[in-house]
Amino acid sequence: MSKVHVKVDDNVYVLSGKDAGKSGKVLAVNPKTGRVIVEGVAMATVHKRPRTAQDPGGIIHIESAIDASNVMVVCDKCKRPSKLEVRFDAKGVKARHCKACGAKISVIGQEK
Ligand SMILES: [Zn+2]
Repeated sequence: MSKVHVKVDDNVYVLSGKDAGKSGKVLAVNPKTGRVIVEGVAMATVHKRPRTAQDPGGIIHIESAIDASNVMVVCDKCKRPSKLEVRFDAKGVKARHCKACGAKISVIGQEK
C-alpha cells in the first residue's frame, strides 16, 4: 500500500520548489520515500564520463525526484489541479475522482 496520491502517467501540477507552476507527467513514483519524478520538472544537470561507445557521456539533464506532497493531480476534464476523492462509482468500482467536477480520474485497486 502506498500513501502517495499520484500514480505513473498522472498529469500533475507542481505547487512548490523552483518549478512551481509547471505541470507534467509522472514518470516514476517511489512509495517508500514518497517522492515522484515528473517529466521536465526539477531538472538536474549531470556531468557524465563516457563509459562505452553507446554512452558518450557529457552533460545530460535528468529529472530529480520531488516530494509527492508538492504536486497535485490535474483533472483531465476541468483542467485544474484538483483534490482527489476516492469513492465507489455507480457500478461499484473504486476509483479516484476529481473533487471539483466529479470526473473519474482512474480506477484503483486494479494493479498490485
Ligand atoms: Zn475536474
